[in-house]
Amino acid sequence: MKVFIHRYELKAPLHPSASSARASRVGCLLRIEWPDGRRGFADLHPWPELGDGPLDEQLAALERFNLTPLSEQAIYFADRDARARAAGEPLWRSGARIRNNFLVNDVTRITDDELGRLSKEGFTTVKIKCGGDIEKEAAIVNRIAKRDDFFVRLDFNGRATPDSFERFMSLVHAESDHRIEYVEDPFPYDHATWGDVGRRWTVGIDYELARSPWARGEKPAADVFILKPANMDVESSVRTAIDWGMDITVTSVMGHPVGVLHAHAVAQDLHLKHGARMRTAGCLTLGVYQRDPFAADIPVDGPFIGKPPGTGVGFDHLLESLLWTPISER
Ligand code: MG
Repeated sequence: MKVFIHRYELKAPLHPSASSARASRVGCLLRIEWPDGRRGFADLHPWPELGDGPLDEQLAALERFNLTPLSEQAIYFADRDARARAAGEPLWRSGARIRNNFLVNDVTRITDDELGRLSKEGFTTVKIKCGGDIEKEAAIVNRIAKRDDFFVRLDFNGRATPDSFERFMSLVHAESDHRIEYVEDPFPYDHATWGDVGRRWTVGIDYELARSPWARGEKPAADVFILKPANMDVESSVRTAIDWGMDITVTSVMGHPVGVLHAHAVAQDLHLKHGARMRTAGCLTLGVYQRDPFAADIPVDGPFIGKPPGTGVGFDHLLESLLWTPISER
């Protein structure tokens, strides 16, 4: 198998909005060719600030076929893509129209006008990145809950502490509770204190999975499993989550549109297979960076991602036109 790479930069918009990325980000597309002539594409987009190895480290390891969880999944996705391309089929499933949440990266920029527009477009769920300014975040949660047209997901990325989170809880009105779908990674995983949060709100587990007893075969103190197909084996993690009675939210990792569509295709497959367990997806992050030709190729209708042209994950011509550098062969 031969591996080729194409490095990219996703640029933060010049005029930031509530959903904008705070900074530009780098990653890398992979083109993998198998000896039987199949070739497939995938995204490799590490978040070193959340525990992934930096991009150059990932690539140096991949050159030696020393796989990380991220590169292992990228190869899995390239293989899915290659199989679909060889069959002339898209990965996108016409039978599964799935809704995505709207992502708010900066609460200070979200306006009532924008919320009104999102509601009209068909969004029913807003995901708010929290832990920067707890007062402002609690205020916006109360404001959105009062509108009664959105469910709210709060993602702290483990940035609060049990104390600051308790303060946050005291600032959110009890009347807002019925609009809070779940709180994700409130603070670093701790079985007892997460359990306390769970007595008031549903708790979701994402990056904190690594600190939880999940790998030891014990159910963490959370009821929603955030599945990032870019980071972990899909089949075995879904089986485990379902065995433990957890619901599942599939999210992309705010990377290249190729990665977004791969995650979305997994979400579609899982909705067809496990509909009742699946929560609104979190794959619609195409608008957080400056628009590039890939993002422009994806039809988006409010919370729904439409079918991109082409086979596999899509973008047939765009992918072929990129410059690819070989890094390894085996
Ligand atoms: Mg998260």
